[in-house]
Amino acid sequence: MAHGRVLSTCLAPCYRSLARAGVLRCRGAAPVADIALKTTRRRAFGSSSRELREKASSIEHDSTLVGENGTGSAINPAFADVAFAFDIDGVLYKGQEGIAGAREMLQKLRQQGLRYVFLTNGGGAHENAKVASLAKRIGLENPEYILKDRVILSHTPMRGWDEDVKNNGTVLVTASQPETARQLAREYGFKRAVTPADLLAANGHIYPFAHLRDSLHKEFSPLPDGKSAAAISDPYSRDIPSDALKIDQILVWNDPRDWSLDIQVIHDLLVSHRGYLGTLSAKNGDRTLANAGWQQDGQPDLWISNLDLVWKTEYPVNRFGTGAFLDALKGVWAAVTEGAAPLRYQALGKPSRHTYEYAHDRLLHYDADVPEAERTQGGKRLRPLRRVYMVGDNPESDIRGANEFAPRDGAQWESILVRTGVFQPTVAEPAPRYQPTVIVDDVVDAVVWALRNEGADVSREWLLSKH
Ligand SMILES: [Mg+2]
Repeated sequence: MAHGRVLSTCLAPCYRSLARAGVLRCRGAAPVADIALKTTRRRAFGSSSRELREKASSIEHDSTLVGENGTGSAINPAFADVAFAFDIDGVLYKGQEGIAGAREMLQKLRQQGLRYVFLTNGGGAHENAKVASLAKRIGLENPEYILKDRVILSHTPMRGWDEDVKNNGTVLVTASQPETARQLAREYGFKRAVTPADLLAANGHIYPFAHLRDSLHKEFSPLPDGKSAAAISDPYSRDIPSDALKIDQILVWNDPRDWSLDIQVIHDLLVSHRGYLGTLSAKNGDRTLANAGWQQDGQPDLWISNLDLVWKTEYPVNRFGTGAFLDALKGVWAAVTEGAAPLRYQALGKPSRHTYEYAHDRLLHYDADVPEAERTQGGKRLRPLRRVYMVGDNPESDIRGANEFAPRDGAQWESILVRTGVFQPTVAEPAPRYQPTVIVDDVVDAVVWALRNEGADVSREWLLSKH
């Protein structure tokens, strides 16, 4: 696949890092670096007292500054270059329970025309499914208006990957519900998406145990293009049959349920010759080569779309997430390579820079709140940003990612940590490992703090009110 040819010529700067990995297509959007900022970059609390008074006034007294658009929301000029990114689990709900005030707060932000996205490391399902579950848990009856097109899952940036990869490559997709992930991969445009169940059905010797075949792996499809997973008998032969299956990318979309099968299959591909299942690379362990010869023979790239070690449920002890699966894979890899070569992989999801770049780009081009007449053709007018507030409960993903992200347009990401989720101070760890700009009780207080930081004299009561 000619990734380099496509990607070296036409990508916007904010996507170059993904381009180097050979997976992102040209978007045709204006480069972020070209944005002429109207305001200079300021630190939080950097506004002058005069600015603060003016902004507060624009909210409290001058309704003529608030322009109504066709959808009933209003764009408050005081917040025109401010946006929010909300984590979902542990911020807007915990388990099945919505956080008190989350619904009213979102309605107010929409009413004020503030831009916001939901940036979650959840995955394995369609973005619309997350919209539905979020709406249900916080009690929203009109999720389209408040939530539509704003949810960014850990694997959502793959929607923007190179069409060449999608059209011509074969990807192994694994997730908590592999069949659901396959359907979603097809919607993203991946023409050939294979699941571990497909491989198991094509060659039962791949995993010589029967568990889960009647449940998790009961749904499978024939391998694409009539390919076979049983065509190779000598793993070192390079006389590879034409019907042998070749995998080009491995996509771990969220925490798998059958770790043992998935670790086995992913291992097999990472030690293979060029991604042909059932082969072994002769370069493995050759210390004269980079990385001691491991992953040096055209093996598929490994993408992990969520690095969270744990996540929060109703259970008192945090539960393992996809990051735990990755650590298990790393442990097996260290044993296989005798510690000679670190596992090479690419990450999506927070705190990955790729994910924050994608979210920033979405916010820059989000114009559902812009009056129809002011939108450019196709509805993708670029609206500059000065500051984005990331509200999260996980210091190691939400906070770390926001702290380390420096968008090319000079906008500033601030991190706000809430106490309703993963982060709980302990005697052993009284402070978060990654320090946020501020720690507050919940998401409502987070928004109040942020808007006050922008100079608005707002309160919880105002944020939760309908007017
Ligand atoms: Mg969370």
